[in-house]
Amino acid sequence: MYPEAIHSNDGDGLPVAVIGSGPVGLAAACHLLEREFTPLVVEAGDAVAAGVASWGHVRVFSPWRYNVDAAATRLLEGEGWSLPTPEDYPTGEELRRDYLIPLAETEALKDKIRLSARVISVRCADRGVEDDCERNRK
Ligand SMILES: Cc1cc2nc3c(=O)[nH]c(=O)nc-3n(C[C@H](O)[C@H](O)[C@H](O)COP(=O)(O)OP(=O)(O)OC[C@H]3O[C@@H](n4cnc5c(N)ncnc54)[C@H](O)[C@@H]3O)c2cc1C
Repeated sequence: MYPEAIHSNDGDGLPVAVIGSGPVGLAAACHLLEREFTPLVVEAGDAVAAGVASWGHVRVFSPWRYNVDAAATRLLEGEGWSLPTPEDYPTGEELRRDYLIPLAETEALKDKIRLSARVISVRCADRGVEDDCERNRK
């Protein structure tokens, strides 16, 4: 995706699907909001950032300041959040508790996340299944 090339909805009224509510999926949703798209985040797990939760007891290998996205930070700071100590190294669970879950609970995102929703297929609307299969083989 080339964010600079994307500015607004094309008028079809449909949300932009984001697969997964991990750090990258939630950051993508924030960037979509800033560009006036409506995101719909679908998460296979029964909780936000279920992937991170699966290794929540482990400490990450980069400090807080590298673990937060700029658009996510702007959204969170608008609701009174502040970055934990930038040089500290959170565990996965701290990353969820102090960043990803508050982000998912912001006014802008809270009704745009579907949990326990696993995506099983993705294809372009104007392509047949055969075209997609062909593309996947390349
Ligand atoms: C112990 C450990 C330490 C790490 N430390 C760092 C670090 O310090 N810095 C760093 O940058 N990275 C670190 N990583 C890597 C880290 O996991 C990734 O950077 C980060 O989680 C990637 O975010 P993501 O949103 O792309 O993927 P994920 O966090 O994996 O999130 C993907 C989400 O998508 C959901 N999902 C998957 N398939 C589907 C589907 N079909 N339909 C719907 N939902 C689906 C999953 O349930 C999951 O919640 C670490 C990883 C581990 C294991």
